[in-house]
Amino acid sequence: MASIVLPFQLAKTPPLPDPTMAMMTKNDLLRELPAIDRILHAPPLAEMAEDSPHTLLLEAAQEAVAEVRREILAGGQECDLSPQGIARRAAVLARTRLAPSLRPAINATGTLLHTNLGRAPLSEAALAAAAAVARGYSNLEFDLESGERGHRYTHIERLLCRLTGAEAATVVNNNAGAVLLALTALGRNREAIVSRGELVEIGGAFRIPDVMAAGGVRLREVGTTNKTHLSDYREAIGEETALLLKVHTSNYRIVGFTSSVSAAELVGLGRQHDIPVMEDLGSGMLLDLSPFGLPREPTVAEAVSAGIDVVTFSGDKLLGGPQAGLIVGRKSAIEAIRSHPMARALRSDKLTLAALEATLRAYLDPQGALREIPVLRMLAAPAEEIRKRSLRLSRKLRRALGEKAGVEIVAEPSQVGGGALPLTLLPGYAVAVTPQGISVDSLAARLRLGEVPVIGRVQENRLLLNPRTLQAGEEEPLVSALCAALKEDRSSR
Ligand SMILES: *Cc1c(COP(=O)(O)O)cnc(C)c1O
Repeated sequence: MASIVLPFQLAKTPPLPDPTMAMMTKNDLLRELPAIDRILHAPPLAEMAEDSPHTLLLEAAQEAVAEVRREILAGGQECDLSPQGIARRAAVLARTRLAPSLRPAINATGTLLHTNLGRAPLSEAALAAAAAVARGYSNLEFDLESGERGHRYTHIERLLCRLTGAEAATVVNNNAGAVLLALTALGRNREAIVSRGELVEIGGAFRIPDVMAAGGVRLREVGTTNKTHLSDYREAIGEETALLLKVHTSNYRIVGFTSSVSAAELVGLGRQHDIPVMEDLGSGMLLDLSPFGLPREPTVAEAVSAGIDVVTFSGDKLLGGPQAGLIVGRKSAIEAIRSHPMARALRSDKLTLAALEATLRAYLDPQGALREIPVLRMLAAPAEEIRKRSLRLSRKLRRALGEKAGVEIVAEPSQVGGGALPLTLLPGYAVAVTPQGISVDSLAARLRLGEVPVIGRVQENRLLLNPRTLQAGEEEPLVSALCAALKEDRSSR
């Protein structure tokens, strides 16, 4: 039965404690609080003074005092009021603030292009190139032959043209920027025709209809979700048509009763009407990766040779380079894109260009690219190799963790991630860790919050650690992180 709500609170309130008594004790405690200066001179804060900014330590000491004060006022009787006791709290606060916020993490999820974990790790050559250019000055926009002003994109244009067969190429900040810029430069205040099956949302705010609106291009949708024919495009062409746009359905697949128009057919139609054709390839691949069990996807060179006028793709997806938006195609179109005022707002910096040039250079020798570029190496690693690495890791973990966790090897496929090849699973293995005494969620949380964050995949009551995405030298810190997370002397929940 529902309780009756009375208009007045009839229940007896408990007698109030004697306020003066309670406040006296609290005041006594508050009076005990040491002066800030004594806290700053107490260990471990005192030792930190040498290499930490004074204001940061001062702030931490003040906050630690404020924290203790709040605890006293809330009735806490057990606070350590010694200068060292408070200095210890302050040191914890100061250390978290001194640690960099953006820092390396170990990706043990097995997902190769984890956007939240920074997508593609760079090759050694790309890292070295970026560091060399960052350390001093460079010929970023300086033509060494003539001694005159040069252009920042010349450094990669020739390479990109060579690798893709395009007449011209340029680079912007990312592929979303490349699509926006190309649409605006080629179609502003006019129409672009797109298949209803290709109105992609990539995640975040990137949706093809919205990007078109932002670029001032009117969307002319044709066909249906599952089927679009060449005649649909043909019938939509009119005075206002500026572009035929094809978008790679990177992160989803329409299967069953479907049909779409190939790049070559669309190019044929475009030529008949003198309308340029653009394709957003999304990830974009320079190599055919089907020998490694990946689906056969058109490479950038194939899109170019089909006659697409403008092809855009990402630098940090399957290409395995830095974040960038690559645009290749016909000279006149690239020229219009490059000279658009928005190009400057989306421009790439020298670190990116250096890393991108080194990454692209590796592709001149496809075998070399497979060896040097981490994303390609991880993609191409056969299941048997992943099994061997899982075995090695599991032996190390068993030795290090003893009774604290169960360790076994399980079959576990990898995903490509980053919105590329959504249906592709790379067969492989993972080490499954079942913690004893704490829940798998608290183990995962401790690993995230450790000195070197480790990200695994929680599956039921175990944590899966997939060696496919571990980089060279990460096995030891991974084992140490697990040891630290499972140490007994921590408060366990
Ligand atoms: C990933 C993707 C984008 C966005 O690329 P970013 O490099 O992340 O900006 C655009 N279009 C398609 C089809 C994509 O797959």
